[in-house]
Amino acid sequence: MTGEKKKGSWKVPFAGLAGFALGAATVLLIVALYGNDHGNEDAPQPVASVPPPAASVPPPAVPAPAPAPAPPPARIPRTPQAIPGDLAQRDLLVPVQGIRPEDLQDTFDDARSEGRIHDAIDIMAPLNTPVLASEAGRIVKFFTSKQGGLTIYQYDPTETYCYYYAHLDSYAPGLKEGDTVARGQVIGYVGATGNASPEGPHLHFAINRLKPDKKWYEGDPINPYPVLQP
Ligand SMILES: [Zn+2]
Repeated sequence: MTGEKKKGSWKVPFAGLAGFALGAATVLLIVALYGNDHGNEDAPQPVASVPPPAASVPPPAVPAPAPAPAPPPARIPRTPQAIPGDLAQRDLLVPVQGIRPEDLQDTFDDARSEGRIHDAIDIMAPLNTPVLASEAGRIVKFFTSKQGGLTIYQYDPTETYCYYYAHLDSYAPGLKEGDTVARGQVIGYVGATGNASPEGPHLHFAINRLKPDKKWYEGDPINPYPVLQP
């Protein structure tokens, strides 16, 4: 017993040092994790605030700088546009089942990476919530892109505007390009494809006024937020 005690005594200062190093490394890891939270360029609006560092971490010898709170997305100052009169009278449907106009957030002017502006709104919803045609019209294009993931381009009945639905998990079974859909018809399901965060499935919804040559991929953005308010 005495021999064991002697043998173990040299380990005590070493164990203390190792414990301190582990504690300091944990603090550094937490700072690194929470200090850099801007990876995704189309990340939806954070709903909950960043959680504070765990209280169980022992205080370090040198106080670590507190992690900076995540800043809100920068908004690009722009002159608010008037909703085109004809569009205001359409009674467009919020294109995600179960979501009401008052649940929406206006993220149209939010900055995105590489100097881009959002030019759309993000409608948060659980994975696989049905996506509904906001208005009647023609499905013009199923398209897959790096940013938008699985997307649908749909024209309105007058083919003046294009509705764009992105980050879909899947298309409605049987739906195909060229089909005419009714207002409220299920056209796909909410997902997190493209550059959407897997933790925040949502529908990225945009309205574009088509150019005279009516190409599905070209148009002038109109803010869907006021259009979808009653
Ligand atoms: Zn978006």
